[in-house]
Amino acid sequence: MKLIIGYLYHDLMNIYGDIGNIIALQKRAEWRGIEAEVKYISIGDSLKTGEVDIFFFGGGQDLSQELVAKDLTKGKGKVIKSEVEKGVPLLSICGGYQLLGDYYQPFDKPKLKGVGLFPAYTNASNDRMIGNIVIQTSVISRQSSDLVGFENHSGKTKLKKGAKPLGQVLKGFGNNGEDRTEGCIYKNAVGCYIHGSLLPKNPRLTDWLLQKALEKKYKKDVVLEPLNNEIELKAHNKAISKFG
Ligand code: GLN
Repeated sequence: MKLIIGYLYHDLMNIYGDIGNIIALQKRAEWRGIEAEVKYISIGDSLKTGEVDIFFFGGGQDLSQELVAKDLTKGKGKVIKSEVEKGVPLLSICGGYQLLGDYYQPFDKPKLKGVGLFPAYTNASNDRMIGNIVIQTSVISRQSSDLVGFENHSGKTKLKKGAKPLGQVLKGFGNNGEDRTEGCIYKNAVGCYIHGSLLPKNPRLTDWLLQKALEKKYKKDVVLEPLNNEIELKAHNKAISKFG
């Protein structure tokens, strides 16, 4: 089996080590004998339906977000949205997450139109929400689990009525530092503020994305071969221990 990982705006939206998410997806596929190819997609590149099996969209500063938001309106935003509607999995972090909502309003610049994938919107604020974060989620497996990482954003994301948060904040700020929600999930698309990078320390989420991609592409139930997660879980628990 083979998966194409679509790395959206890799050259503009890749801060705080977000490329670690691509590496985690690639390695956890390859360790199971599944070929994983990265397709780099940026400004001016074409994107057709069926070309990508998992999308990744990392974080970025306001200037990069301005350039990317404009490019998304030229066609790629519509393709990403329609692929997610068909069940293609996606992971977006911070700046990428913000651009997949209805809009991102930077502090002192014009509003950036979003893709409208997540029922959410973001306004920049005077607060800098920065530090380690732990959330509890029950969307990636039947029993609830936690996700750990690092956040650094001024944007406050509010979820619209009916939107499903990725989880509840146990430690840290999350979407906005006010309503204890973090992230958003829509079909197999995940948006959140968790850098770190997120996936290397949260192997269950990596496997959830891989499984959804394989099931969508090969139209069958997929049981991923278990891997030895000793190092990943050591990093996960170390991150949690930072909260004392
Ligand atoms: N510029 C956005 C904010 O500060 C996103 C930053 C990021 O991607 N870490 O909220």
